[in-house]
Parts: sequence; structure tokens; C-alpha cells
Amino acid sequence: MGRRIAFISEHASPLAALGGADAGGQNVYVGEVARQLSLKGYQIDIFTRRDEHELPKVVAFSEQIRIIHVDAGPAADIPKEELLQYMPAFTNDVLHFISSEQLSYELVHANFFMSALVAMELKKTLGIPFVVTFHALGHIRRIHQGDNDRFPKERIAIEEQAVREASMIIAECPQDRDDLINYYDAQVEKITIIPCGVNTAEFYPVNKSVARSLLQLPADERILLQLGRMVPRKGVDTVITALAAVRCSDAPVKLLIVGGDIDTASELQRLRELAAELGLSDKISFLGQKSREELKYYYAAADLFITTPWYEPFGITPLEAMACGTPVIGSNVGGVRFSVADGHTGALVPPKDPVALAAKITSLLRSPARLKEMSVNAVRRINKLFTWELVAQDIQSLYEKVIGSGVVYPEKTASAQMITYEKSNLH
Ligand code: UDP
Repeated sequence: MGRRIAFISEHASPLAALGGADAGGQNVYVGEVARQLSLKGYQIDIFTRRDEHELPKVVAFSEQIRIIHVDAGPAADIPKEELLQYMPAFTNDVLHFISSEQLSYELVHANFFMSALVAMELKKTLGIPFVVTFHALGHIRRIHQGDNDRFPKERIAIEEQAVREASMIIAECPQDRDDLINYYDAQVEKITIIPCGVNTAEFYPVNKSVARSLLQLPADERILLQLGRMVPRKGVDTVITALAAVRCSDAPVKLLIVGGDIDTASELQRLRELAAELGLSDKISFLGQKSREELKYYYAAADLFITTPWYEPFGITPLEAMACGTPVIGSNVGGVRFSVADGHTGALVPPKDPVALAAKITSLLRSPARLKEMSVNAVRRINKLFTWELVAQDIQSLYEKVIGSGVVYPEKTASAQMITYEKSNLH
């Protein structure tokens, strides 16, 4: 039997429907990384909070992956900002499960700061080392969201402690690594940059006309796509504002917005009102959450994928767009700056700058030949650098170093991987 690894992902289960306020990249990451590692022989248990009564305690996700529903707090949807209070109960339930099944894990992989808190308790009680992927950092959120950040203030101290106690830290891009060093005083040797990936069996190029006809979209329009969770920091308002200034003489330009819970999300309501105020309601379709199977058709139907977050720890949607052969215009921040090669697979613009964005959209829509070239480059870049298979190879090396050494800082791997990924960004 392969090595047994415990994943902890307190609020993000691979079984959740994606695109609501709290279900997005982390859910995908945990499911895809587990799947790839299981193909390498690892046995993985994913511990995640039970948010529905009906969920069985244990769900077989595949032959080698189990999802364990942890009883911690009410079995209902609870915003992730309110979950910290349930983490002691979470830890107790995990410990109880481990002892009742007589399990022994060689490593814990914690995802997000509350899971890191649980991992620290497991380390203390059972002596299991842990690695952590933070997915987002409290300091950075505070800087950008100020008083709108509703996470408890303890978050930052927990992250600081986890930075000290983890055997290794996975940063998702160079900016994430720099933030860990600058704001958390993390030792550079302890950080390895491993990006997110894309499932190329799920996201691949589909002929644009075929995709549009499947989705019943007009063949003669220029289509811009925005897809993801609808939360203010994703900067969807920047895309809407920019649309008013996009000039394209040969065809109407439309914006499709996929994601968000159509009935309840207040951010969607705010965006709809903005579109109406700008007189753009007939140029924008708010489509709500779509199934994973449909997403490739939306990406492929679009002439451009646009994502303009204020900040972005990684950002999987640009990868998905590029895997489908759609060039990306993205904010020049965090993981987007890392995954989108400016002028090669799309373009980078400053965040919160609708004027710059409109100019870039206009210029690219006027150059179909450049768009075509970027499309080819985008698919190539994804297959070379950003598949989950590649991600899992790096995570496997990391795990083996941590498990093999019994301790902490595998200096060579960390710096070598950092250099490889820094270079990869030069195309
Ligand atoms: N997503 C989805 N359906 C939707 C909206 C989003 O499946 O309606 C997925 C999207 O395809 C991507 C993930 O949610 O895989 C979002 O990840 P990303 O890293 O871009 O953003 P995050 O959610 O981590 O902020």
C-alpha cells in the first residue's frame, strides 16, 4: 500500500458545487491534486467540514481517495469567515476518526489557515509533520479589503505560527512567496513555488463556431467572458465599466458573466445595477453558475477571457481559458501575472483601471491574427507548464523530501524549483 496522506480543507470540499461565494479554486485544487497523487500510489483522506446532514461520514471519491465529513458546528452552509470557532471541534473529530480507524498518516497537507491550525494540533498530538498551501493570506486580504474583511483578527497570528511550524510551505506564485517572506518572515528555504494546474481532459480547445452553436450564442458577435466567484475583489465591475468604452466597428461586443448564485448573491445584484446605470444591460448576460462540463464551451465561445482581480493568490480560471485556446486579459497581479504571458498568451493591465482595460480589449479585438497566434501560444503554454500532472510531480517531490528527511528544509529542491518557475514566466 502507498503512503497515507491526510488532506485538510475545512471549508472547501471537492464535492461542492463551484461558483458560489465560498466554493472555487481551493475545491478544485484539493480534488485534482489528490487525484493525481492517487495515480502515483498515495492513499489520500480529505477531511472537510460536514455542511449537510445527509452527507455520509465517509465518501469514496475514488479507489484511493476518501472524503471524510468532519462534524464541527452546524451541518449547514456557514460563511468561511465564521468557521474559526468550530476548529477545536474539527480537530477533535479528526483525532477521533484517526484513532477509531487506527490510521497512521505520514504527512498532513493543510489547505487554508484554519486547516493549518488543525494540522498544528495533529503535529502536536500525533507527531505528524505538515505542509501547507495557504491559498490566500490574511495580511494581503486586510491590505486590499480593509474593514470589509470579516475574518477574525486571529487569522494572521495563526498564519504566522503555521509558517514557523510547517515543514514546507507551498507558495502558488512568486508574489505569494514574496508576501510570505515580507509579511510573515518566512524563511526562503522553507518555501517552494508550485503553481495550480488545469485538467486538460476537462478543458481543451473546441471550435468556436461549434461552441457558440451548442450554447445558442450568435456567430457574428465579439464575445468577452468573465467567469468565477462573484465577490468584490474579483473586480468584475472593472470589466463592466470598461465595456462601455470598448470600440469595435465590425461587430457588436457582448459580455458573458458566468458564476455567482443568481438568486441570492448581493454582489451579482450590485453588478446588475452597475450595468443598468451604464446603459449596458442589453450587452451583458448574467448566467449564474454553470456545470463543469459546460465551462469549456463558454471559454471556447469567447474571443477573450477577462479577469481583473484587485489581487490574486493564483487564479485557476485564466489557465482554464488558455487551455481552451482563449487569450486572457488579466490584472498584472499575483498569479495572473505569472500564468498569463503578456503579449504572448494575452495581455496584462493594471487592476481597477477600466480605461486601460477598454483600450487593451479594443486593440486585441481589432487584430484577429494576433488573437489567433495568442490562442495557439496559450494552449502550448498550459501543456508545458500548468497541468495538474506537473503540479503533482512537484508536490510528490516535496512530500518525499519532507517524509524522507524526517524534518524540515530541503534546501536544494526549494531554490531549484523557484528558479525553474521564475524562468517559466519568461515564456
Ligand atoms: N467555477 C465553476 N463554476 C462557476 C464558477 C467558477 O466551476 O460557475 C470554477 C472555475 O472554473 C475555477 C474555480 O471555480 O476552476 C475558480 O478558481 P480560481 O482559482 O480562478 O478562483 P478562486 O475561487 O480560487 O478565487
